[in-house]
Amino acid sequence: MALIVHKYGGTSMGSTDRIKNVAKRVAKWHDAGYQIVVVPSAMSGETNRIIGLAKEIMADPDPRELDMIASTGEQVSVGLLAIALQALGKKAVSYAGWQVPIKTDSSHTKARIASIDDVKVNADLAEGKIVIITGFQGVDELGNITTLGRGGSDTSAVAIAAALKAQECLIYTDVDGVYTTDPRVVSDARKLNTVTFEEMLEMASLGSKVLQIRSVEFAGNYRMPTRVLSSLTDPLMPLAEEIISGTLISFEEDTNMEQATITGIAFNRDEAKLTVFGVPDKPGIAYQILGPIADANIEVDMIIQNQSVEGKTDFTFTVPRGDYNKAMDVLNASVKEHIGAGNIIGDSKVSKVSVVGVGMRSHVGIASQMFRTLSDEGINIQMISTSEIKISVLIDEKYMELAVRALHKAFGLEAA
Ligand code: ADP
Ligand code: ASP
Ligand code: MG
Repeated sequence: MALIVHKYGGTSMGSTDRIKNVAKRVAKWHDAGYQIVVVPSAMSGETNRIIGLAKEIMADPDPRELDMIASTGEQVSVGLLAIALQALGKKAVSYAGWQVPIKTDSSHTKARIASIDDVKVNADLAEGKIVIITGFQGVDELGNITTLGRGGSDTSAVAIAAALKAQECLIYTDVDGVYTTDPRVVSDARKLNTVTFEEMLEMASLGSKVLQIRSVEFAGNYRMPTRVLSSLTDPLMPLAEEIISGTLISFEEDTNMEQATITGIAFNRDEAKLTVFGVPDKPGIAYQILGPIADANIEVDMIIQNQSVEGKTDFTFTVPRGDYNKAMDVLNASVKEHIGAGNIIGDSKVSKVSVVGVGMRSHVGIASQMFRTLSDEGINIQMISTSEIKISVLIDEKYMELAVRALHKAFGLEAA
């Protein structure tokens, strides 16, 4: 019997009425003869609320304790959904991550999944039960509860689908698919019927939070067919319609090649930039600046080193905004002392806007069109980075939405 994994996000689980609708949809799939594992998120706002409680007590709480707290939202969701399914006469059982178990490493608040045991879940499925597993959480070697980073239920769902060799993983959310850009920023964004795995990976890594990037990596590594679709439609809509709705992540190479050059526009509001002035231009400098940043577990994204003048240069890089103060402290402590550089300055009010598309490989002039569009809007580009299928620019955060709208229009991405 084919197994399908369903994932429901926070809005989809946002009230007991919504949970009853989720139960109706899941029961419909089960009635149609599928084995079903459901991976829900916490009810919307709940994870923020409980993390907020911890931060009322201390600005920078112990990550282990934070995970203990943050993971509880999903535990409420699985129990409520199991009850809602039982109320419909279905056999349903809920599990926390540690009960499966979903084993992770010990990087609290950003743990990585190491293995998922399928024994208990398969036994339940064989008995005709619907199995509901908490998203977002796991357990480390020592038995500590861990979480997978914000938005991590997507990753739980795709990883569980891969471990159980599901036929497909369906990510139900509050939009009806992946759009050319966030439809909340550009109202005439267009829904994509398919998006290539590579493009989805870039879009997720560049800030499109519709899927957590690690879920896309799992989908790619295990070639797990994954579809993004709406949980807000009639839960009893015909299955034949639902199966082909939303956006399918496609593994076929370059399916979009003959279509648009640019598939989508991604943005990330939460960037910060740091510049070290007067750095001696000699071997090992980049390592000496960025080594201590990496040791502090801070991810570096864009990097620029200027041409040197009289043996001195400037070195600029970006980090997630949440790590800005920490990065500044690390730089002040290490770089100034050991490298003998001049001033360090930073700007925590910058955003990154990126155009993405596999069609870029076979088209020239995308960068110049992007830069011309931004110039026409009077938007200054602070940094640029490129890959084969994306161009990203760093700009002042106050122009971010303007830039996204202008680029969306310039590349003709709007709905017909
Ligand atoms: P969930 O709680 O279901 O996981 P999220 O809020 O994490 O939902 O992700 C869905 C949201 O992602 C949408 O409401 C939308 O605002 C946002 N989003 C960002 N970029 C895109 C995009 N390219 N296509 C669709 N949604 C996007
Ligand atoms: N509840 C978690 C969060 O808010 C995980 C998720 O929703 O995917 O980040
Ligand atoms: Mg999400």
